[in-house]
Amino acid sequence: MATSTLELEKKEIIRRYRGLLRDCNRRKLTQTQKKLIRKAFDIALEAHKDMRRKSGEPYIYHPIAVARIASGEIGLGTTSVVCALLHDVVEDTEITLEEIESMFGKKVATIIDGLTKISGVFDQTSSIQAENFRKMLLTLSDDVRVILIKLADRLHNMRTMDVMVREKQLKISSETLYLYAPLAHRLGLYAIKSELEDLGLKYTEKAAYKTIRKKLVDTKPERAKFISRFTVPIRSALAEQKLKFKVKGRSKSVYSIWTKMKDKEVDFEEVYDLFAIRIIIDSDSEQEKADCWRAYSIVTDFYRPNPDRLRDWISTPKANGYESLHTTVMGPKGKWVEVQIRTRRMDEIAEKGYAAHWKYKESSSESALDGWIKKIREMLENPEPDALDFMDDFRLNLFADEIFVFTPKGELKTLPVGATALDFAYEIHSEVGNKCIGTKVNRKLVPLSHVLKSGDQVEIITSNKQTPKEDRLKFVITGRAKSKIKAALKAVERIAAKEGKEILERKMKRVKIHFNTENINELLAFYNLKDSQELFYRVAQGNLDLKKLKTFTLEKGKIKKIPHRRAKKNALEELVLKTRGKSDTLVIGEELQKIDYKLSPCCNPIPGDDVFGFITIGEGIKIHRINCPNAISLMSNYAYRIVKARWTSQEMLAFLAGIKLTGIDEVGVVNNITKTISKDLNVNMRSIGFSSDDGVFEGTIMVYVQDTKHLTTLTKNLKKVKGVQTVERIH
Ligand code: MN
Repeated sequence: MATSTLELEKKEIIRRYRGLLRDCNRRKLTQTQKKLIRKAFDIALEAHKDMRRKSGEPYIYHPIAVARIASGEIGLGTTSVVCALLHDVVEDTEITLEEIESMFGKKVATIIDGLTKISGVFDQTSSIQAENFRKMLLTLSDDVRVILIKLADRLHNMRTMDVMVREKQLKISSETLYLYAPLAHRLGLYAIKSELEDLGLKYTEKAAYKTIRKKLVDTKPERAKFISRFTVPIRSALAEQKLKFKVKGRSKSVYSIWTKMKDKEVDFEEVYDLFAIRIIIDSDSEQEKADCWRAYSIVTDFYRPNPDRLRDWISTPKANGYESLHTTVMGPKGKWVEVQIRTRRMDEIAEKGYAAHWKYKESSSESALDGWIKKIREMLENPEPDALDFMDDFRLNLFADEIFVFTPKGELKTLPVGATALDFAYEIHSEVGNKCIGTKVNRKLVPLSHVLKSGDQVEIITSNKQTPKEDRLKFVITGRAKSKIKAALKAVERIAAKEGKEILERKMKRVKIHFNTENINELLAFYNLKDSQELFYRVAQGNLDLKKLKTFTLEKGKIKKIPHRRAKKNALEELVLKTRGKSDTLVIGEELQKIDYKLSPCCNPIPGDDVFGFITIGEGIKIHRINCPNAISLMSNYAYRIVKARWTSQEMLAFLAGIKLTGIDEVGVVNNITKTISKDLNVNMRSIGFSSDDGVFEGTIMVYVQDTKHLTTLTKNLKKVKGVQTVERIH
């Protein structure tokens, strides 16, 4: 008993396979093509041999049916038939993609890979269906056969869904109505689109579907009578003109009736008889247009046309390839009837889409299909607005807040409305964003802040020299770009902070302050900064007055100094007396740290300079240079307040000195100057200012030097910089 069932099944499998071959052979298969299909069938049969469908049928029925839809109903060629037969093999059986590639080549493997990838795409919640749709569009631009075979797969599953549990039926049907049917529509597969919609409705609105379906069957004779009455005069006139033709009068689909009833809130009776009569003419390719208009003329001889309802899709076919001539005329009983006039070729395209179209253009099916694929890809890539209608008509209303833009290679990217060229750069890759120096939109150079629109093709120009800048945050709107810029800024900050940390450590050592957490915290409080990272960064950037560090250590006294150097808080008078008591020379440097003194900002003395001390009222002793412009007046008027002073030799403190430079303003001169100062001599700059006038520059730099010797070396080196004419110290 069991054996005979299996025998019967085997026979049935062969019968179905032969049916597939018959469909394929309408294109006159070569021996090689036949062998290829056979090979795919054998592999699929073997791979699925132990599998059964939910219905209990052998699994292989499904791939055979999908291949038949691909070939017979969509008009696809051998490659697609092979892929359809193998479409579930990689996902559900042991066979790998590599094996498929070695047996059938790269193209087949790529398509099957695409099919395997999108199989999971729709098993998601509806919230991410928008993203899924985008993925589907991307696959579409890879190889549209992936989508077509997927549609065939879906159609067969929908046709055989009765055995599924209710939940699954609902889920699959909603997906079908939501995405697959509109997709089939846009690809010009009207027959498949209508069937998918009807089947979708059958499971989502069971009762409504049943009712409408029954009423359609019941009213069929009535409709047939009307159609025949309507077409009688047309038929004879067309025959008289020697036109070969067929007249079809198909009612609207269940789904479209249901939608109309719902949208217009009307009963079945008010919409069921709205149908189109189709006149399909068998015409030579050169005569197509003329024949269609002849038929139009005949129709309108008998029935008055509504001038607002003439649609000429022959002169200007729809983006998806649809060609037809539509008119709405007043029929018997004062009823409007839509008449569609087209040739057989046009009708086939309307039913099956572009695949059918190419059948007429070239005999070699595979290369013809490639041409079709190319055309669809061009539609997706071409930024022309009308070609983009093709895409816009997709469920783009789902993406009302999104735009589609393309890379120079035609890859599709989705961005939110308002996204800029710089956002796009970050969408490609964070490094592309960071190194972006310019952008071209549709081949024109635009600012980074340029707002993109759907269909733009965007090219990013990068430079390795570009580093992230904070002001770029203003040019982007996507969270991704913002966070990438911030991360890049942070990274730059981290490197700078490392540098700054070293600088600070050095400085603190010079003023004998321990470089430890406690002291760093004191510094943070003093400078009002949030963390050490920022402190180090500021030090590296040079926008922290490190001179304060010195005053801070002495005035605030909060910082723990290296113990034996602890400053005493003696009164000024006491200090002076004490100093005078020992020697009448004030020794500045290590010893003088015991005394509250300041280097006068009017002449900025540095170690090595001839100096004197001046006792002030509130600021302790101020050290001036002997040749300070104020020196003479101070010494003559306040001789009693003058203290002799000299430097210790091993002075390690940094002192501020000003340098004035002049020279020829050539490229890179400022950079070379600052490099000489900071790199070659390891001197820190406090401020720098350059002005240029007719090719001559003048610059002022405030530097921290150890002593006059240090400053002399610096001056000498600066004079060597190309373009520098004079270097002098400012007093
Ligand atoms: Mn399948």
